[in-house]
Amino acid sequence: MIRVVIIGGGWAGCAAALTARKAGAEVILLEKTDMLTGLGLVGGIMRNNGRYTGAEEIKALGAEELINITDAAARHVNINFPGHQHANLYDVTKVEPMVRKILEEKGVDIRLMTRAVDVEMEGRSIKSVVLADESTIKGDVFIETTGSTGPMGNCLKYGNGCSMCILRCPSFGPRVSISYRAGVEDILGMRADEVYGAFSGSCKLNKDSLSEEIREKLNRDGVVILPVPKEDINIGKLDLKVCQQYALPEYAENIILLDTGHAKLMTPFYPLEKLRKIPGLERARYEDPYSGGKGNSVRYLSMAPRNNAMKVMGVDNLLCAGEKAGLFVGHTEAMATGSLAGHNSVRLAMGIPLLELPRNTATGDLIAYANENIKTREGLKLRYTFAGSVFFERMKQQGLYSVDPEEIRNRIKRIGLLDIYKEKLV
Ligand SMILES: Cc1cc2nc3c(=O)[nH]c(=O)nc-3n(C[C@H](O)[C@H](O)[C@H](O)COP(=O)(O)OP(=O)(O)OC[C@H]3O[C@@H](n4cnc5c(N)ncnc54)[C@H](O)[C@@H]3O)c2cc1C
Repeated sequence: MIRVVIIGGGWAGCAAALTARKAGAEVILLEKTDMLTGLGLVGGIMRNNGRYTGAEEIKALGAEELINITDAAARHVNINFPGHQHANLYDVTKVEPMVRKILEEKGVDIRLMTRAVDVEMEGRSIKSVVLADESTIKGDVFIETTGSTGPMGNCLKYGNGCSMCILRCPSFGPRVSISYRAGVEDILGMRADEVYGAFSGSCKLNKDSLSEEIREKLNRDGVVILPVPKEDINIGKLDLKVCQQYALPEYAENIILLDTGHAKLMTPFYPLEKLRKIPGLERARYEDPYSGGKGNSVRYLSMAPRNNAMKVMGVDNLLCAGEKAGLFVGHTEAMATGSLAGHNSVRLAMGIPLLELPRNTATGDLIAYANENIKTREGLKLRYTFAGSVFFERMKQQGLYSVDPEEIRNRIKRIGLLDIYKEKLV
């Protein structure tokens, strides 16, 4: 049996595990922390703007499980907030056990608190990954989905120190770039001021620490917008953030809260003393990252060069997906690229041509467009997401944006890719 080893259990790794299983492989999923879904443990926004199209394409291609879970765990559906339409907000406190259950049901061998630290090579191929306890795991094909967050050294050097984020490097150990260990140089993203990396763009406040009025409005409407006092407006901070889809003046002039179980605060960090000046937030405290008053995690310092089938250039049996695979932002983007990498891992092991999604799909165009742009200095300052920034504009121009599930399904059917990920290849 073909054995696929996936390193990193965020949305990209979980998606890859499901499609690799469907294609017929034995799948081992390694995750350094005690929970799956990675940054998905603190995100929650789905289906906003072009992500609606992205989600429906994932379903039509035959990888509906994770989209169905985030839909089922939604606290709010079809809501609008500045710059964003028809969003779903999943409950970050509910989604992880649901994901774990489906992966177990599908027969994925999940290994939590298992950190990969190195690789053993045989020529241009990885023979096995080496774990922190010095044991090794052999595989035929490997998929790297370790994301790009941290480790602590990066948050210290390019950010404001360890912000104590959900990935908890001090307890579970740092992220490791597996592609780098296999001999491939990492690509580094930049922010507008040409400093490397970017701050994560949102925090979570403990909902119980907010006033009853704000809590009720959040539970009812999903969104609360509170004006920032004039003296505290900081437009420059918008350039620091990863999520360029939220780098709009409205996000500097207002506190925008979204209900994802906790109250998602749409800014990279915000000094607690200033936050508590705002009516209703007098008792506010951070839920994630714990040091959200001072900083946030730093990301995008570890991308692998890859082709549009998600294969890492320079290593014969390594694929990648999610943030590891480019300057992608988002759960949907991680699931879309992860699903393709998982499917292609089995093709690669069998020596059959890898699948590239055509550019008349939103996912195919995103994957190819991000790859073209990452090769330029300006492109390294951009982020690629269905939800905004340059790519959502492009989706609209190219006629790729749709919120009609039937139309999206028919598009995938016309190009002969309906349920392609459900095909058992082995
Ligand atoms: C605070 C915050 C809020 C966000 N909000 C949203 C949102 O609302 N909507 C949205 O669409 N996107 C949001 N995003 C972005 C989105 O979460 C990410 O782009 C996406 O989830 C990345 O998925 P990934 O699988 O590529 O990486 P990650 O989620 O980073 O997963 C990588 C996994 O690999 C593990 N790992 C790393 N190194 C190793 C190793 N050596 N061995 C084993 N395991 C390892 C990590 O522990 C982690 O679980 C948010 C991000 C942050 C930080």
